[in-house]
Amino acid sequence: MSDSSYDVIVIGSGPGGYVCAIRAAQLGLKTACVERRATLGGTCLNIGCIPSKALLQASEKYEEAQHDLAAFGVKVGKVDLDLKAMMGHKDGVVKANTAGVEFLFKKNKIDWLKGSARIAAADTVEVTGDGGAKSHKTKAIVIASGSDVAPLAGVEIDEKKIVSSTGALDLPKVPKKLVVIGGGYIGLEMGSVWQRLGAEVTVVEFLDRILPGMDGEVSKHMQRILKKQGMTFKLGTKVTGAKPNAKGVALTLEPAKGGSAETVDADVVLLSIGRVPHIEGLGLADVGVAIDNRGRIVTDGHYATNVAGIYAIGDVIVGPMLAHKAEEEGVAVAELLAGQRGHVNYDAIPGVVYTWPEVAQVGRTEEQLKEDGVAYKAGKFPLTANGRARAMNATDGFVKILADAKTDKVLGVHILSAEAGTMIAEAALAMEFGASAEDIARTCHAHPTLNEAVKEAALAVDGRPLHI
Ligand SMILES: Cc1cc2nc3c(=O)[nH]c(=O)nc-3n(C[C@H](O)[C@H](O)[C@H](O)COP(=O)(O)OP(=O)(O)OC[C@H]3O[C@@H](n4cnc5c(N)ncnc54)[C@H](O)[C@@H]3O)c2cc1C
Repeated sequence: MSDSSYDVIVIGSGPGGYVCAIRAAQLGLKTACVERRATLGGTCLNIGCIPSKALLQASEKYEEAQHDLAAFGVKVGKVDLDLKAMMGHKDGVVKANTAGVEFLFKKNKIDWLKGSARIAAADTVEVTGDGGAKSHKTKAIVIASGSDVAPLAGVEIDEKKIVSSTGALDLPKVPKKLVVIGGGYIGLEMGSVWQRLGAEVTVVEFLDRILPGMDGEVSKHMQRILKKQGMTFKLGTKVTGAKPNAKGVALTLEPAKGGSAETVDADVVLLSIGRVPHIEGLGLADVGVAIDNRGRIVTDGHYATNVAGIYAIGDVIVGPMLAHKAEEEGVAVAELLAGQRGHVNYDAIPGVVYTWPEVAQVGRTEEQLKEDGVAYKAGKFPLTANGRARAMNATDGFVKILADAKTDKVLGVHILSAEAGTMIAEAALAMEFGASAEDIARTCHAHPTLNEAVKEAALAVDGRPLHI
């Protein structure tokens, strides 16, 4: 006997799942969302995007008050850190956001089924919560179960001395020495937070560059800036073990290409080498849902798995593990289930690193274009020549636009700048509309704004920037 029946049951309430549930409900589908966490919003709102940005913002203010305000003629007295209050700010932001999703569920009449979901059959989801197991019938199931921290052999997370990003969002005091394993965006963001608050931060990265997947020129420039800020980098280096001891943690490192090992001491180690899809406990093998060799659920262009009636979106399927990618897929699959034409343009999904300055990109990198043999033109404009950046004392960085050599169509935009994450929206919109560099160059940009650097980079594609 089933306890209730639905048009759609979404498993997981992260940005993929909760957005999917809202859109499905908007379209008139009877919708439920299963979440086992005590609050809605998934990784993103609870232990990911939102708390990390709250701490980045707060630590940036601390850094600013300590070192940067005097240059603006603002005198401050002795600046002290109140870590408890800073964590309180973060927790408050998380609470407001997760409660916001709960409000949206009520507003849209979405049932929150509290507990862990297991797919008993293509039309049945079993939810085990405080009150035991309940069975729910549904016409469609959307799996949005997200991802978990990728493990590393020899490095056992205890969330005290050896932490994942979750522990790094909640350290009770500033570590003297923090070693970050992995030079991706999570490592650099959390490393930046603790470095601003006073930690000596060393980033150990297996590859010979940071921010893999981002444009090589941007990543090199960013590394130089972070080094100037005090971060140390050990590139081309692998961590072979981490042993907690009375003082902290002893890490053993080796050159990635082989060679002699060294030991490095740390008070805290952050393991951030990536994330892996979360499929445990869903019962996928029992219902026959196909998984690829990286543990991701296999879907077709319409997010359908190989089992009729079961769909998947977000971090648990192929593609960049980003909240806004999951959200777009959530909307698309809900629209498809309602008989509409949901679609995601994977060529125009921006990626942002919220360091100082920020790094943002959309579209393809120079390396990718070269590898694919695409003839392109590049236009670049430095922030040193932008009036607003000068006024903000934020002249580190540049905007680079890559456009097709023949058609001038924008193929990629790369920004290293304060507020790059906000600036990139214009580039994503341009790419969504299939714009040429000339289209951006001929668009009137408000003055004085950082986005004028985007217009200038577009002019530079044709060799005619005005302000340099
Ligand atoms: C520190 C950090 C910072 C990040 N910063 C950014 C950022 O700035 N921008 C960005 O775009 N992305 C960021 N991300 C990535 C982003 O959080 C993820 O891409 C996004 O949350 C994926 O959404 P999702 O809906 O696929 O899954 P998730 O958000 O992971 O949500 C999945 C949910 O499903 C639930 N669940 C899983 N299995 C079951 C089950 N069987 N039964 C019931 N519930 C279940 C889980 O409890 C979880 O709440 C960050 C991640 C981390 C860790």
